[in-house]
Amino acid sequence: MILPAFKYHQPKTVNEAVALAQACDGDFDFISGGTDLLPNYKMRLNARGNVISLSGITELQDISPTRIGAMARLREVINTPALQTSLPVIPHTAKLIATPLLQESATVGGNIMLDTRCYYFNQSWFWRDSKNYCLKADGHDCLVVPQQSVCYATYSGDLAPVFMVLDATFVLVGPDGKREVPAEKFFTHDGITRNVKLQEEILTHVIIPASAQTLQADYMKLRVRDAMDFPVLGVAVALELNERTIVRLRAGLTGVATTPLLFDDVTNGVIGDQLTESLIEIIADEIMSRVTPYRNVALSPQYRKAMIAVYLRRLLQKHLNGEPVS
Ligand SMILES: Cc1cc2nc3c(=O)[nH]c(=O)nc-3n(C[C@H](O)[C@H](O)[C@H](O)COP(=O)(O)OP(=O)(O)OC[C@H]3O[C@@H](n4cnc5c(N)ncnc54)[C@H](O)[C@@H]3O)c2cc1C
Ligand code: SF4
Repeated sequence: MILPAFKYHQPKTVNEAVALAQACDGDFDFISGGTDLLPNYKMRLNARGNVISLSGITELQDISPTRIGAMARLREVINTPALQTSLPVIPHTAKLIATPLLQESATVGGNIMLDTRCYYFNQSWFWRDSKNYCLKADGHDCLVVPQQSVCYATYSGDLAPVFMVLDATFVLVGPDGKREVPAEKFFTHDGITRNVKLQEEILTHVIIPASAQTLQADYMKLRVRDAMDFPVLGVAVALELNERTIVRLRAGLTGVATTPLLFDDVTNGVIGDQLTESLIEIIADEIMSRVTPYRNVALSPQYRKAMIAVYLRRLLQKHLNGEPVS
């Protein structure tokens, strides 16, 4: 498949990129590594007339345990010793994304901003034409939940639930200046609008609180092909124990809803409790009971739902068994 024609812009600063975006009057996309955007363009999925590259903006490329630039490539994240030591869950998760070749181009910002996915959307123009398209691109009706107002495409980025359990903040810069949005408040329940970022805003970096470094965090993903696939379920857990007493606990999911999900209402209720086999069962079953995956990505919703409890149990039991975490 070949790309549609578009005008390519290469700004050198964030301010220049924002000004270019304003001049494009809505007909543009930002591009980082292009490993999500360009396959979508090739399939004629909402392609725009202008593409604004963020790859020449050096201020977006820094990596440290408390700040990761949106243009940080996944390969650099995987190979950064300071992250491997202080926040190993981030390089561990980055290594599970796509393939080694794609990790050379793919970025942290692009991963967070990943477009939502659906069996009826991630298809060629020809295939979608046979179904008369859908609400997310070129059509009027949702083919998963028949109606005409909300898209239920599945959010499938791996890093977002990890940033959520680490209590990270996303920094956005746009025409009205800079603002910070907690990762847990960034995503919105519509597969088309996807998040609170305004079109002309750039995600510049992720701030991770120093307190995240005392958490034991881990991530597991379920996918069809272990060598290269989006998560059809991803589970992130961050835990701080004092002996067996739970001091902090957060659990996040991806690949099972239009947004990554966080379950503080469940995990806050067990702070101060002893981590035991039976408590792990209760937490895992309670979180699983709150999720209803849609039938729009690989593997059945029933199986993906059941695996939520399985993966939560496996991640939490590592702490009981004294096994290494991520
Ligand atoms: C074969 C294959 C397998 C894959 N497997 C996985 C997987 O297992 N897990 C996974 O999570 N992803 C997977 N991906 C998707 C993709 O490779 C990664 O999510 C990658 O991290 C996206 O980053 P990017 O820089 O290439 O994003 P891009 O394609 O450049 O951008 C993605 C989206 O984010 C927007 N965007 C990018 N950067 C910014 C920014 N700084 N500010 C505002 N908007 C921005 C773009 O406009 C676009 O809408 C896979 C892709 C392929 C082709
Ligand atoms: S959930 Fe519905 S509207 Fe969204 S991509 Fe799938 S079919 Fe289209």
